[in-house]
Amino acid sequence: MAQLGIQEKLGILADAAKYDASCASSGTAKRNSRDAAGGGKGLGSTEGMGICHAYAPDGRCISLLKILLTNSCIFDCHYCINRKSSNVRRARFTAQEVVNLTLSFYRRNYIEGLFLSSGIIRSSNYTMEQLVEVARSLREDHDFRGYIHLKTIPDADPELVHQAGLYADRVSINVELPTLGGLKRLAPEKDAGRIEGAMGAVKSAILDAKDARGRYKSAPRFAAGQSTQMIVGADAATDGDVISKASGLYDRFGLRRVYYSAFSPIPDASAVLPLSRPPLMREHRLYQSDWLMRFYQYRPDEVVAAADPATGMLPLDIDPKLAWALKHRERFPVDVNRAPREDLLRVPGLGVKAVNQIVKSRRWRRIRLDDVARLTNSVAKVRPFIVTEDWRPTLIADRAELKPLVAPKTKQLELFA
Ligand code: SF4
Repeated sequence: MAQLGIQEKLGILADAAKYDASCASSGTAKRNSRDAAGGGKGLGSTEGMGICHAYAPDGRCISLLKILLTNSCIFDCHYCINRKSSNVRRARFTAQEVVNLTLSFYRRNYIEGLFLSSGIIRSSNYTMEQLVEVARSLREDHDFRGYIHLKTIPDADPELVHQAGLYADRVSINVELPTLGGLKRLAPEKDAGRIEGAMGAVKSAILDAKDARGRYKSAPRFAAGQSTQMIVGADAATDGDVISKASGLYDRFGLRRVYYSAFSPIPDASAVLPLSRPPLMREHRLYQSDWLMRFYQYRPDEVVAAADPATGMLPLDIDPKLAWALKHRERFPVDVNRAPREDLLRVPGLGVKAVNQIVKSRRWRRIRLDDVARLTNSVAKVRPFIVTEDWRPTLIADRAELKPLVAPKTKQLELFA
């Protein structure tokens, strides 16, 4: 590997880390004050590398230095730009370089923490040791109190994964693909049993640490949670497969989050991969389904029921909550003045905050349609599904042509947008 300066390594390893969805941020136009095209004038750049935003356990949005330790890897996962057979420029930080970068970014107030992942170098254990050493040095040598999120390597010695949890606020282990068949085909060196075994061990360690801290204040801290990521659209898995897998992971391993990352074609892609990316809307619909299970009390099979039974895919033109409601019209209209909270959560267009507000307000007075309108973006979407003091959708809830009335209007795209 050629000798590279820190700036060059940062460019390569921050770019390589962008494929991890756990802290995605939106794109923008490229601008750089050092560009000759701009006369080398001005201030700032949109091409700065390595900083992304994520949500801390307490809900704050924080800036993280998001990098890989190295983008070299001895594995050859087909969907990954860093795989062994990929023709990309390689770089590698030492553990000390990552520590120094984190501290200098932190002291300049650029970041509030570190998100560190890595390709696998030499062996899973060796790589995990390097990741742990970064976190250890930050915490023990420099008393670093910022946020640390470590991607862990499932094949590594469980003791090393445990050590990662002792220093990090969050650890994550990627399940990568929703089905066993997909994993075998696209990441043949990975083993679903070992991935889930490592998740189970992290879950036990989190629970043990909570229990111990409940009894002894001096008990060591352990990561507050774990998360995972699934790639969507690289294999033939349906939305139903993805939702079922995610729900199983939440149940069995108490995950904080499952992230869904729409597969994006990579340079020199393997022939087994699709040529084009899935619609980004698919990723969005999966996040909405995830939300329904976590905050709206839908069972996984109910979310799957919103999908087209022939294809197993969620509709792209309407959200899964509306799709479910259109298939279950017998559950509507819901009387906002009487219905239990869980029925109100099923009404398309009513969010958790709106439902909480309705439940609170109706203790004191009867809710009218205007009251609901103030709590939602589109009362037209809500109206066919509710009864209020002054509104009852007599015929409309049964009309077969309800979908065009409540679905978002399609927009003409601008040719030169
Ligand atoms: S192990 Fe990770 S970094 Fe290596 S090829 Fe597979 S997905 Fe990429």
